[in-house]
Amino acid sequence: MTESLLPFSSIAAAALFVLSLRWLSSTKTARRGVWAGVLGMLLAVAGALLQPEIVTYKWIAAGIVAGTLIGAPMAIWMPMTAVPQRTALSHAFGALAAALVGTAEYYLHTDSLGTFTMTALTLEVLLGCLTFTGSLMAFGKLQEILPTRPITYRGQNAFNLSLLTVAIGLGVYLTINPGATHLFPVFAGLGLLFGVLLIIPIGGADMPTVISLLNSYAGLSACAMGFVLDSKLLIVAGALDGSSGFILSVIMCRAMNRSFTNVLFGAFGTVQASAAGPATQKVVRSTTAEDALEILEVARSVIIVPGYGMAVARAQHRVRDLCDALEKKGVQVRFAIHPVAGRMPGHMNVLLAEADIAYDKLLELDDANLEFPQTDVALIIGANDVTNPAARSDPGSPIYGMPILDVDKARTVIVIKRSMSPGFAGIDNELYYMDRTLMLFGDAAQVVGDMVKALSGAGVMH
Ligand code: NDP
Repeated sequence: MTESLLPFSSIAAAALFVLSLRWLSSTKTARRGVWAGVLGMLLAVAGALLQPEIVTYKWIAAGIVAGTLIGAPMAIWMPMTAVPQRTALSHAFGALAAALVGTAEYYLHTDSLGTFTMTALTLEVLLGCLTFTGSLMAFGKLQEILPTRPITYRGQNAFNLSLLTVAIGLGVYLTINPGATHLFPVFAGLGLLFGVLLIIPIGGADMPTVISLLNSYAGLSACAMGFVLDSKLLIVAGALDGSSGFILSVIMCRAMNRSFTNVLFGAFGTVQASAAGPATQKVVRSTTAEDALEILEVARSVIIVPGYGMAVARAQHRVRDLCDALEKKGVQVRFAIHPVAGRMPGHMNVLLAEADIAYDKLLELDDANLEFPQTDVALIIGANDVTNPAARSDPGSPIYGMPILDVDKARTVIVIKRSMSPGFAGIDNELYYMDRTLMLFGDAAQVVGDMVKALSGAGVMH
């Protein structure tokens, strides 16, 4: 009875995964998308646990306990700003699982593996291994345990490509001669090494694209695993994961004006650091919350540019209060959203939605850039790299070519941040030395909170 229901649970799970991706593509239906994905995964796992081939649940139970002990604290206690690192770790674990399953299948059934299964198996192990170490490297860079700057050397691409060619060559040899078991560890080792070498030349500013690309590799590895285990659900889920990660990588490349082939071969991030002089030699005009408010109150239009600092300070609710208070005074307030502001795709959209800021106030990059020249004040709250004009003007800058929000075109620019420290890309921002720019130093939540209090007549707190 239970067995006859298994194909239906697989079909239902696959349909839920497709619907989940469909719904996740819009902020309005994203929550439904998450629940559809959760339900789909629950059905898939339940279906897998009811397979008649299972002889004992002992090791499965041990796996569930270990996974829960690692996963639950990560989900509960990791802050929102660390989600990219957490995602990188999830890819690492998923890819390791695929590589280990492939390895186990290889050694258990070496004599009976046909050419098709061996092709899928070598692909699974190679992608699994390189995604495992690549994702760990990405985690280290995002957590800043490893240096975020690109590490490059002469002949790097040629070396990486040769290594990949040797690994693929070994994979082909093993496919034709599965009995050459002594070569399998070398093959897996090359995959692990390639993952490390793939990520080291990539600079911090390009990490978002890398994360979605690794997502794609992990999905393709799971898809190959589906062919090895003859699991249609794994094939579908892996293909969906692989293709959606791939599409997201292409979208991110466009958003950052990066060449996709460069990303594929891990060769980007090779530009030199900006030649801009040290910050201390230039003049910065700082202001106070009271003076900034005077400017904001008499403005007709204000565009708020949120960034990573707003996320760190958890200032989104106070920003909403500021927006409401300014609107009451007749000021038109809108928000400019850069696709890579924050530390994950859609980071700012999620935070502003959490604070109930209406979608129709949000301007995408191109629309916002059309508006800045007619805007009285660009109010930047904890954003840095995504407003740096060096992306337009300095070919030596690591972010050169990345589309930015042209806040420097607004009549007045007010920047809320705590110090002159650089953003994630680690470079100085020319915007801060412009005549029209006023720096308002302080924690975003504190400064915006002060402004809201002053607007509501309670006075600015010091
Ligand atoms: P940045 O990292 O460029 O700048 C954030 C700024 O916020 C810092 O300069 C910091 O300055 C300020 N800040 C930090 N804490 C606070 C606080 N409590 N109150 C006020 N300000 C604060 O952020 P952006 O959003 O502009 O740019 C995102 C960067 O991250 C890009 O380089 C992007 O490529 C990269 N990235 C994006 C990912 C994505 O998927 N979106 C993933 C990974 C990286 P100070 O210390 O002086 O306060």
